[in-house]
Amino acid sequence: MAEDSREQGHETLSNLLHETRRFPPPAELAADANVGEDAYAAAEADRLGFWEEQAARLHWDTPWNQVLEWNPPYAKWFTGGRINAAVNCLDRHVDAGRGDRVAYHWEGEPGDTRTITYAQLKDMVCQASNALLELGVAKGDRVAIYMPMIPETVVAMLACARIGAVHMVVFGGFSVDALGTRLDDSQAKVVVTADGGYRRGKASALKPAVDDAVRDRPAVEHVLVVRRTGQDVAWDEGRDVWWHDAVDRQSTEHTPEAHDAEHPLYIMYTSGTTAKPKGILHTTGGYLTQVSYTHWAVFDLKADTDVFWTAADIGWVTGHSYIVYGPLSNGATSVMYEGTPDTPHQGRFWEIVQKYGVTIAYMAPTAIRTFMKWGEEIPARFDLSSLRVLGSVGEPINPEAYMWYRKNIGGDRVPVVDTWWQTETGAVMVSPMPGVSAAKPGAAMRPLPGIVVDVVDDQGEPVPNGGGGFIVVREPWPSMLRGIWGDPERYEKTYWSRFDGLYFPGDGAKRDEDGDIWLLGRVDDVMLVSGHNISTTEVESALVAHPKVAEAAVVGATDPVTGQAIVCFVILRGEAGDGGDDLVKELRDHVGASLGPIAKPRQIMVVQELPKTRSGKIMRRLLRDVAENRQLGDVSTLTDSTVMDAISAKLPDSRGED
Ligand code: ATP
Ligand code: MG
Repeated sequence: MAEDSREQGHETLSNLLHETRRFPPPAELAADANVGEDAYAAAEADRLGFWEEQAARLHWDTPWNQVLEWNPPYAKWFTGGRINAAVNCLDRHVDAGRGDRVAYHWEGEPGDTRTITYAQLKDMVCQASNALLELGVAKGDRVAIYMPMIPETVVAMLACARIGAVHMVVFGGFSVDALGTRLDDSQAKVVVTADGGYRRGKASALKPAVDDAVRDRPAVEHVLVVRRTGQDVAWDEGRDVWWHDAVDRQSTEHTPEAHDAEHPLYIMYTSGTTAKPKGILHTTGGYLTQVSYTHWAVFDLKADTDVFWTAADIGWVTGHSYIVYGPLSNGATSVMYEGTPDTPHQGRFWEIVQKYGVTIAYMAPTAIRTFMKWGEEIPARFDLSSLRVLGSVGEPINPEAYMWYRKNIGGDRVPVVDTWWQTETGAVMVSPMPGVSAAKPGAAMRPLPGIVVDVVDDQGEPVPNGGGGFIVVREPWPSMLRGIWGDPERYEKTYWSRFDGLYFPGDGAKRDEDGDIWLLGRVDDVMLVSGHNISTTEVESALVAHPKVAEAAVVGATDPVTGQAIVCFVILRGEAGDGGDDLVKELRDHVGASLGPIAKPRQIMVVQELPKTRSGKIMRRLLRDVAENRQLGDVSTLTDSTVMDAISAKLPDSRGED
């Protein structure tokens, strides 16, 4: 089992994949880049001074008197400072005469659209703030937001931030149970929801799940309901309130209060890829500082001209940081999209890029691999020439997926930034900068200025170049989590007990010969094969590099001979057919030839779908459960439970070839 392999694995992660392709920044972008090489040196010379400079990009009502108070593992940033996140996202821009700038081009699933300026968004947020106050929400109270991807979701979040309530967004696709446990955890007083939302062109209901979830949860005093689909809903007079009744009649004036820099801003649950989701707490000043800085630096944002699009759901941290707080704090124009990549057709994303002239697009490798599967003819039909920076987040991006993205979406001219971070880190930590780094396909390259990240071995010693091990963070950073809501023990145990004094994210990594950082997947997913620690990511990347493979998930399953053996699940590209024994042999040989005989899989299964979290990550732990014939673990964040049935049904007869 994975746990044993971690204890037994005394050697560090094998470094099997070799990559020689390099993509230096385009000259034009580099000449005018927001961040140059000098930022790294400045931050290294005075890390806290560097973060003070970034904090000063924001509006503070009262300046801080201390940059950092560090009582490991508890950090406070910018103590004594007072700041309002919503004011930084809205009022500041309106007051500076930029109220007419578009904050969001919202693209609804059935094809409806809305254009919302900063001035309009500010008015909406003030009205919602007044409404929440009227419903009895006070500073520090928790408000659950269980919504489709509509502008009111952002309005509700910023209204909470404005009045000092703590928002807890729960992904709109989650079940009653998932919503219920999060309500228990947070003791939310109000739930903001909608009658329903649109998914793949059809209306689906949301309110019934809320009704079920709040039935035995008296802590919830009110349910505030946006009318989105117009479908019939059950109604509890006294508890339920329509948004258009409660919010629209409010004044657009609301005088904001400045909150302490460490005042809680939100709780966000992790994706649940490796275990039961953790309720991560973020606070105001440090979070906003790093989110705002990274959005500006990593994407080289020019707020006057760029159109920025994070193609993710607000129900996970990428949406919080790079649909809401990053872009708005920088006064940027964003696209917000309610729907899926294939509704009504598989070119939907590229149609949106073309329609709004998107200049910066940020999405997950899972989406990119899906586009690979659909074929390059689809994006080729659209004009993508407005793009100038592309980003990837959520999982390691396989080198071939990176190359496909760069070529077919970026026209072989646009830099791709692979950004490593977590719900816990709040903002990007490791990434190339588009105007500085010569990017390598699949590498997150190096920590951002002001971030001190290292790769260490089992004993916590830094690995030399060419070595593999664990990624760690050596120094506190402004947007770091302040804890797990209601569970301080789990906070210390999960992140701070593995290595003395180091933050442990739980991901494997390596340094290449140049010292650049590559992420190699979850530590829980590392396989121990005949005494070698092998990363699932490297085997997956080797498989995806085969022209017939679109996507792969790899796990280590107990094996009497080798300790663990490599078991692979692959999805083929559109034109590759259904596989067959010849293809399986070809793929096994291909992995052996790319990574060495040690990494040759025991078994390869061709499947139609892989189990994924709602945020699009492969849940290898479930595949391992199946491969080892165990009962499935926590599936509460799984997108589609029938996927596992289909895979289990297929497994027995494809077992045990040579
Ligand atoms: P849980 O913690 O509940 O298991 P999760 O880790 O998937 O879920 P998130 O916070 O959404 O929850 O994801 C963060 C993780 O995603 C990182 O720890 C890392 O494993 C992976 N990740 C994110 N971006 C990258 C990237 N650019 N390269 C490699 N891995 C990435
Ligand atoms: Mg995690």
